[in-house]
Amino acid sequence: MRLFPRRHPHPRRWTEIFTGVEAASVNPPTGVIACPDCGAVQALRSPGGHVIARCFRCRGILERTAGRSLDAAAACALAVFALLFPANILPLMRVSVAGATTRTRIISGVFGFWHQGWPVVALVVGFEVVVIPFLRFGLLVVVLGALRAGFQAPWMGPVFRWSQYLDEWAMPDVFLFGAVIGYARVAPFLPVTIDPGGYCFIAVAILTLMTRAALERRAVWRRIAAPAARTQPDMIGCTACDLAVPGALEGTPCPRCRLRLWRLKPRAYARTIALTLAAVALYPIAYTYPMETSDRISSLHPYSILTGVRKLLHAHLWLFAAIVFTASVLIPFTKLLLLSWFTVSIHMRSTRHIPLKTRLYRAIVGIGRWSHIDVFTVAVFLPLMHLPGFLRVIAGRALPAYLAVVVLTMLATDSFDPRALWFAAQSRHE
Ligand SMILES: [Zn+2]
Ligand SMILES: [Zn+2]
Repeated sequence: MRLFPRRHPHPRRWTEIFTGVEAASVNPPTGVIACPDCGAVQALRSPGGHVIARCFRCRGILERTAGRSLDAAAACALAVFALLFPANILPLMRVSVAGATTRTRIISGVFGFWHQGWPVVALVVGFEVVVIPFLRFGLLVVVLGALRAGFQAPWMGPVFRWSQYLDEWAMPDVFLFGAVIGYARVAPFLPVTIDPGGYCFIAVAILTLMTRAALERRAVWRRIAAPAARTQPDMIGCTACDLAVPGALEGTPCPRCRLRLWRLKPRAYARTIALTLAAVALYPIAYTYPMETSDRISSLHPYSILTGVRKLLHAHLWLFAAIVFTASVLIPFTKLLLLSWFTVSIHMRSTRHIPLKTRLYRAIVGIGRWSHIDVFTVAVFLPLMHLPGFLRVIAGRALPAYLAVVVLTMLATDSFDPRALWFAAQSRHE
């Protein structure tokens, strides 16, 4: 069942943009919402049952009820937060060769990068894998727990906004994939054993994915503060909580999440171009130099990203080779290409393929973080493969460049405002 009738994705008259349209539905209204992708203000109806509510203009998903439950999300978030302690304190894995045993913890890779002269890489990885997961799940547990207890307070909006923003940067799930791929690469010639911390970490990564699957953020936002019941002429939307407010409030903090409200994010266009160009400049270094060099009994084996993919192919690990190639080569390249297309089309005030561009933007927002897999593979195995006189791994100069490409493309995607595509097209017709 469709909640909103399918309309032609290109409005016939561009003046229809930002006017607000009430969608016809038999379900009860749940309040006015501003689509974060195209800016269309609309009265959202309760999706009810197992259905999805879509934006009438860009067809983006505004809310889904299938498989979503606040209680399940709260339980998963609490379990992640509790398991993060043993996962960080206990040893993750160990290697025993000729009587010598090396154990690693999550933080060991961070220290490894630091000691090998890459403090910025150490800090970024330390934040993404250790600090931010604690913050993300700590804040989420506080908000969901408070809602569950029937509590209402102004701090809940900003706290939930931060927990949602940090979700993209909290990477236990991506780290687990990096560890699995590294494990598949070294297990044939090194006896690697998983320790209790490793099992706790696997549970953390799976529960992280389950929390994301169970949490319906729009339902949480409505419980923090109810939106307006009816649309009005000239409303603008909050980019964090999608609350629709009168246009006169532009420049003031959002009444629900306290983020400053803008019709279009100021300087977003220039910031996206600057971050994209910086990533493009580092791209050649990231893909030509080695990510790591393994030093095995005085013979050096440098691994670039593409060498790593080739080694996985030679070992007949086709699936892992495909995952690494997609995450490390295809995704960053596609993101740079698409962001360049979007910025050029805003500059040209193009009216072509706007719904397609909006859909592609939505797709690259979610997948960018998975490009960290290659960095985390090195972070796991740098301290583990440290057997003096026999084997050691040295981080290569592609590592900081590649990490910078991934982080810069994520920041460029975050700073981009997809509503500008619709706005630029509209301004051409005025
Ligand atoms: Zn939309
Ligand atoms: Zn807001």
